[in-house]
Amino acid sequence: MYHAVQAAGDACAGQDPHYTIPSARFAGHLDLALRSGARVDCARDLLATDGSGPAVALTFDDGHLSHYVCAFPLLAARGLRADFFVNPARVGTAGFASWSQLRAMAAAGMSIQSHGYDHRYFDELAPAVLREDLQRARGEIEAHIGQPVTLLAPPGGRAPAGLAALARATGYRHVLGSRPGRIAGRTGLRVLPRVPVTADLDDARLRAWLDGSPFVSARAQMRHLVLGSAKRLLGNRRYEQVRARLLGQPHG
Ligand SMILES: [Zn+2]
Repeated sequence: MYHAVQAAGDACAGQDPHYTIPSARFAGHLDLALRSGARVDCARDLLATDGSGPAVALTFDDGHLSHYVCAFPLLAARGLRADFFVNPARVGTAGFASWSQLRAMAAAGMSIQSHGYDHRYFDELAPAVLREDLQRARGEIEAHIGQPVTLLAPPGGRAPAGLAALARATGYRHVLGSRPGRIAGRTGLRVLPRVPVTADLDDARLRAWLDGSPFVSARAQMRHLVLGSAKRLLGNRRYEQVRARLLGQPHG
């Protein structure tokens, strides 16, 4: 699960530095994944096939302009595809990719998927509002891109109980959250895990992830548990304030 990718010398204004990866390092990640022997593809197509053997899905949240400018060329140069989870309300605004840029990515095989309509956290929406958000996001992306939207990634990884069932009822096939882990077994009515890629990820840890090291996975899961408890104890607003103070930055 990537967020912004930063070109050399680009300030990437407004993006959360904790989740921003320099483009050279991102290119290194792609080459490591390709050398791992796993099938590397977008989650849309990996989840639609009953493939066996190791596989790595590349996903990007938030629809940053850097996905079009930086990540897209590096993926295309390697013949790779990825999923880009976008918010229709943010498409074409400052710092975010436009519909025509997303269409160009889709035409080159990239998968454009739903990150909700406007990035409001799903655990703060009434059920009827959430249902409308999911339908509106999927409808607008399909209308602009001209391809089916099958995947949903909840903003901030906030997945209220029953989200997978609601997503299925509103036309999605799979929900990808941000609980760290590997996808194994049935992928039906549940929120699937993803591994968050943060700025401090080094190649040794990425290699261990690609090898499926249980130790590294346990460490990522522990971090997620601690952050998840803080979110529940503090509530979303207060959590963002504390997190920003700890990491020394505003939340993007
Ligand atoms: Zn997001």
